[in-house]
Amino acid sequence: MNIALIAHDDKKSSIIGFAIAYKHILEKHTLYATGTTGKLISDETGLAIHRFQSGPIGGDQQIGALIATNDMDMVIFFRDPLTAQPHEPDVSALMRLCDVFQIPLATNLASAELFIHGLERGDFHWRNVIKTKKDREG
Ligand code: PGA
Repeated sequence: MNIALIAHDDKKSSIIGFAIAYKHILEKHTLYATGTTGKLISDETGLAIHRFQSGPIGGDQQIGALIATNDMDMVIFFRDPLTAQPHEPDVSALMRLCDVFQIPLATNLASAELFIHGLERGDFHWRNVIKTKKDREG
């Protein structure tokens, strides 16, 4: 599965803790992240992560582009609901695309934990079915 990891500044320590706790699951997947989030997680865990631009300068949109081509299977996005973000339009666009393409989106730790256990259980296998169908149809 292709998984995107993003955290606003106030939630970075939280996503690092999440990545440490679930490294044994995350390492079985292909990980993507916005610039700073990706650097912090890989520094702390050693996980291999494809890093995009930092969120405020286009990283959210780069992840959105993969959602738009149905190439992202899950987005874990620890949002800070209490701080205004300069790139709020990009954040909204990313979440909107998740809804357009039915991509699982967790916006906080509690939901991310359910996702990660579901991932381990095979609950997201339907994404492989959809992608295989897309590949077949070209
Ligand atoms: P960052 O971006 O990981 O580069 O800090 C996250 C965001 O604010 O979208």
